[in-house]
Amino acid sequence: MSTSNRLHAVNVVAKIKTPAPCPAAPVPEINFAEDVFNIQTMKSYLPKGSCQKLLSTIRQGTPLNPEIAGDVAHAMKQWALERGATHFTHWFQPLTGSTAEKHDSFLDFEGEKAIMSFSGKNLIVGEPDASSFPSGGLRSTFEARGYTAWDPTSPAFIKRHGNGATLCIPTAFCSYTGDALDKKTPLLRSIQALSNSTRRLMKCFGLPDEKVEITLGAEQEYFLIDRNFYLQRPDLLQTGRTVFGAPPAKHQQLEDHYFGAIRMRVLNFMTEVEKELWTLGIPAKTRHNEVAPAQFELAPLFEEVNLACDHNMLVMEVLRQVASRHNLVCLLHEKPFAGVNGSGKHNNWSISYGKRNLFNPGDDPDQNAIFLTVLCAIIEAVDRHADILRATVAGAGNDYRLGANEAPPAVISIYLGDQLKEVIHLLETGSGRTSRKAGSLKIGVDTLPQLPQDATDRNRTSPFAFTGNKFEFRAPGSSQSCSGCNVVLNMIAAEAFDRISGVLENADKKDFNAVLQKELRAIIKAHKRILFNGDGYTDDWLSEAARRGLPNLPTTLDAIRTLTQDKNIALFEKYGVFNRRELESRYEVSLEDYLRRIHIEGSVALEIATSMILPAVRGEYEKCVRALAEAKQADVKAGMQAVRRDAEIFGKGCDDLVVQTATLRKALADKQDEIIPAMQALREVVDQLEKVVPDDSWPLPKYREMLFIY
Ligand code: ADP
Ligand code: MG
Repeated sequence: MSTSNRLHAVNVVAKIKTPAPCPAAPVPEINFAEDVFNIQTMKSYLPKGSCQKLLSTIRQGTPLNPEIAGDVAHAMKQWALERGATHFTHWFQPLTGSTAEKHDSFLDFEGEKAIMSFSGKNLIVGEPDASSFPSGGLRSTFEARGYTAWDPTSPAFIKRHGNGATLCIPTAFCSYTGDALDKKTPLLRSIQALSNSTRRLMKCFGLPDEKVEITLGAEQEYFLIDRNFYLQRPDLLQTGRTVFGAPPAKHQQLEDHYFGAIRMRVLNFMTEVEKELWTLGIPAKTRHNEVAPAQFELAPLFEEVNLACDHNMLVMEVLRQVASRHNLVCLLHEKPFAGVNGSGKHNNWSISYGKRNLFNPGDDPDQNAIFLTVLCAIIEAVDRHADILRATVAGAGNDYRLGANEAPPAVISIYLGDQLKEVIHLLETGSGRTSRKAGSLKIGVDTLPQLPQDATDRNRTSPFAFTGNKFEFRAPGSSQSCSGCNVVLNMIAAEAFDRISGVLENADKKDFNAVLQKELRAIIKAHKRILFNGDGYTDDWLSEAARRGLPNLPTTLDAIRTLTQDKNIALFEKYGVFNRRELESRYEVSLEDYLRRIHIEGSVALEIATSMILPAVRGEYEKCVRALAEAKQADVKAGMQAVRRDAEIFGKGCDDLVVQTATLRKALADKQDEIIPAMQALREVVDQLEKVVPDDSWPLPKYREMLFIY
């Protein structure tokens, strides 16, 4: 970059007009879900009979009656046309990590006459030519056809763009043979499994049959940077993260960004994001500055898990799109900047039965017995299957984050807080009282301990924390779909519920309490090793976890291997979530994705180092050498020492760059395992040079420019 370009980069922020604050205006009418074909809309657009049939599919999960498809399609089309839609698309979630859509217009002909048409078949099933989506070998190209199938439990919505709109129909995506090729299908299967198992367990407690709803609130972290900087960073453009960059003198040390006053430019962006999300029926609720400079968070109110997963995909898309309208770029990568915090996604997960949240300690002893049973089941589930839960958050981006003392470690453990820990201890030892006085509750079984109500402790270092009425899984990466971890949470909870139900169903009614108590005690004894309330960031914990025999799977490669172990395949098959073929294909897809991403990062690092950094450093070296020669000729002595020192520094920098780029080039050619260490070694050289090369000769925008938005 020339000097003038560099100044351009530095000054560009100054040129952006900060919008003037609006004069106080009344709160506008909220157009919540205006662009969603939701139940309310269905009621006004659909014939009554069809509407009732559709609602029973949505609410009770009864199989979809194909006869109503024509009516629903007609109503949806009417509604969409009124909103300016000209096209429709089946909207789905292939294994690429993002969403996919192939648009068709409503245009058709009746004889000579152009009409807008959308049939029941158009609604229910699509056949995108899907040969280019990752399938991990599930589909050979000669039968490349993939099918998308309408998911009536997630409402259709309209995506608007500058001069038009598209009707989007959430769908599952599978192969000709019925194998899942997407993230929604296994999620729906796991919801089914956990719903059945929850009903079975609740029946043991004598509760009437009720609807099970699994709920998710996904907190989304992200970075924003000025678009002009982004465009000058080939690494950000190509990989979503900076492969070089020295931390600025001040970044997050003063902890002054977290929850700080939000800058006007960012607030304007956030407000537009929220308005757009509300229109799409996404209940955006909380916004705040996060720990790192230029890092932020958006949290919606929780919703049913399938809908919440779809909505989180849309949240990521809206964040990106609105950012570009504000001349910003939203970075969803887990670790865009080294040396400051990375971004995660907190997966707040719970199960409700009828109106009752099963993770909420109740008001009376019977409810608390249910709560403790469910709690113990989750402890058992997570301890038994920590390996596959870890695998669900594996990925090249998250590897830079997990265990980097800013995110929970790659070792899965459960945080319960001191109060619940004590309750669990009393449950195990069989004594019935807690030492806590305030707000204690009685549990149904006399000898079960009393339960304190205010479990409000916070521990940010735990990957899986009980937070009062839900579990918060904090390991997912910011760019990942929520589907993966919820599939596994649902399935492993289902298994534990089923096992406990098996025990309780065999108990005599009069012995029920004693059997339950014995069972819970046995669970705690067998699985308490997974409970850890301390600081998850310390090395002590890693050694302690090893002593306890908890799996530590630090990298993606370690983690995803567990997916194809026989015991895990058997579990996925038992619950109908994945068959062996599907699991093997997912392993292949994850592996390839990981290897390719690392290869791309390495190639980008090599290219930047060779074509941008080395020429810049050599330029400085040459300037010094010329200056030395000229000074000698002119017989000037002063300054020679400083120039000679700089010549040595830049000369050595060039030599080091040549060595480290050669190592990286070789790793890229044939030593995949060595790409990451080679990138790291190259980065150390480059980041040191960034600090000594004159600012106006450095070819990349620096962290201190990018990380502060004005
Ligand atoms: P934090 O302190 O982690 O920010 P919040 O109380 O703000 O916690 O909640 C975070 C998320 O948890 C929100 O998205 C919220 O809607 C969600 N949440 C609350 N209750 C439930 C629940 N029963 N099931 C799932 N998510 C929930
Ligand atoms: Mg949280």
